[in-house]
Amino acid sequence: MARFIPRQTDWWGTTWKLLFFLAVIVFAIAVIEPRRGVFWAILFIVGGLWVFVSLVSTKTGYRCAHCGHNFQVPTTVNFFTPSHMGKNDDGTFYSYKKLTCPHCHKVSKARLMKLSKSKGAGKLLK
Ligand SMILES: [Zn+2]
Repeated sequence: MARFIPRQTDWWGTTWKLLFFLAVIVFAIAVIEPRRGVFWAILFIVGGLWVFVSLVSTKTGYRCAHCGHNFQVPTTVNFFTPSHMGKNDDGTFYSYKKLTCPHCHKVSKARLMKLSKSKGAGKLLK
């Protein structure tokens, strides 16, 4: 298991993601759609989004609100579950999804966590 740290607001990361997705859409409309048609353009956008979500999935995890257990979700789950925004007591915002915890099997507002880059000995930060 990897280490988890609370995910801070990362404006550069958010901008980069938006630009990536925008580039995928522009490429699909400007290059793929005139040559291959709308179907392939949409398929390309969905494919790009899928690759993007799978990249994000490897770098993030979620913390169960019931037992504090950290866990990762497969790309398929991440892709089809909507994200929500919650507000901390200090006025900052955090991202969460309603997920079923693999540890206590309860559905909770699982808070988005970022995987720590340092390779830990398998301990989770509490
Ligand atoms: Zn739990």
